[in-house]
Amino acid sequence: MRRERDSKALLDQARQYAFEYIDAIEKRAVFPDEKAIENLDRFDEPLPEHWQSGAGTLELLNAYGAPATVAQTGGRYFGFVNGGVVPTALAARWMADAWDQNPALYVISPVVGKLEQVCDNWLRDLLEMPDGTVAGYVSGSSTATLCGLAAARYELLRRLDWDVNARGLFDAPPIRVIVSEQAHSSVFKALALLGLGKDRIERVPADRQGRIDASRIPVLDGRCLLILQAGNVNTGAFDAFEEICDPAKKNDAWVHVDGAFGLWVKASPARKVLAQGVELADSWSVDGHKTLNTPYDCGIVLCRQRDSLTAAMQASGAYIQYSEHRDGMMHVPEMSRRARAVDLWATLRYLGRNGVAELIDGMCERAAQFAERLAACRFRILNAVVFNQVLVAADTPEQTREILANIQASGVCWCGGTQWDNEPAIRISVSSWATTPEDVDRSVDAFVDARSKVLPDPADGR
Ligand SMILES: *Cc1c(COP(=O)(O)O)cnc(C)c1O
Repeated sequence: MRRERDSKALLDQARQYAFEYIDAIEKRAVFPDEKAIENLDRFDEPLPEHWQSGAGTLELLNAYGAPATVAQTGGRYFGFVNGGVVPTALAARWMADAWDQNPALYVISPVVGKLEQVCDNWLRDLLEMPDGTVAGYVSGSSTATLCGLAAARYELLRRLDWDVNARGLFDAPPIRVIVSEQAHSSVFKALALLGLGKDRIERVPADRQGRIDASRIPVLDGRCLLILQAGNVNTGAFDAFEEICDPAKKNDAWVHVDGAFGLWVKASPARKVLAQGVELADSWSVDGHKTLNTPYDCGIVLCRQRDSLTAAMQASGAYIQYSEHRDGMMHVPEMSRRARAVDLWATLRYLGRNGVAELIDGMCERAAQFAERLAACRFRILNAVVFNQVLVAADTPEQTREILANIQASGVCWCGGTQWDNEPAIRISVSSWATTPEDVDRSVDAFVDARSKVLPDPADGR
């Protein structure tokens, strides 16, 4: 077991590979080529019977793993809403990985308990959340949403004199769940996991930008859970929080907001009006690893009432030693987990209030630049570009599909596809600090080139 007790040589080797990766990132194709994908077969070896060399293991990973990565830390990856990674956060994560801390309880890791507490305070401040709001640090928004909805389920049933932890959901008084038809798939997944039943939810139509139609939300009461969205995955649009939350709260409904990438708009003085009133909700889910550009895996659940969250995440055991400090496992489903608050803390400390605002505003400006330049090159922009998302189409559905395939094969940039307003669309998410105006220009050129392969028309607008 102790053959490689001295880990420094391995860490040096890993550092060397990481530096080479970072240095090459802007020069390589954004999506791995066929050869790199084929070479992944090299990993198909039987489980070794004996010890292998650590150096050889890293070498294999570097030789065949690195070339098959998607270059999303460069400036021209626009697929999904993946975000890049702020270097300070990555470096802090390396340190925390060397520490190998477990933030389950304060007594297991005082430093991570402290940093989680500091993140709680900073997030409340930055996102303008109500006093007393607590956070739980989980793997991503899917889990954060699960936690927020679990808190809602616990609290709504508690008010009806039903302890869901003890008695379960069979025979429980029914609670109504009201969701936009445009909610993210992870919301439906969380509802299914929580026994709230995908088929019994009430789905409310959305408008052409993907915002829930406020006039179609039923009259709510204390048995209702309403789920809203800050940042539609296709259009980036925000629901009308103020208009919706005010009456919902007066009638004692629980409001959860899925703000995976959009909730950060609250940190931009220039744009926070987009999410006005979002702070009236009861719980929120948001990702560090998207707009904020922390490394994976960094999801955050925020809950206005600490007791609803901690009761829903109940944990007990004779050997569990709670303290007067922050015990992480009280706020999340897991016991052991990675010290993800370290990278979140480092990102927030490094950027500061103005840095977070600049990061977000920069993404929005790049998205607007994309929309403007693509429109000037005779592409159609299908959404109102209010945040970081741009939906693009060519003249016909077939052309849009072919152009997207050509863009993806170009290696210059990478965008995903979606369906919007009954037609296929190319979906651009600007979500990396690394994307520059030059990256946008180069990518727009790649769009035009991709189209010229489909339509050999010289009047391509360049
Ligand atoms: C990405 C996303 C999620 C899921 O978040 P994960 O961190 O991938 O689990 C949920 N809702 C929205 C709107 C998203 O963009």
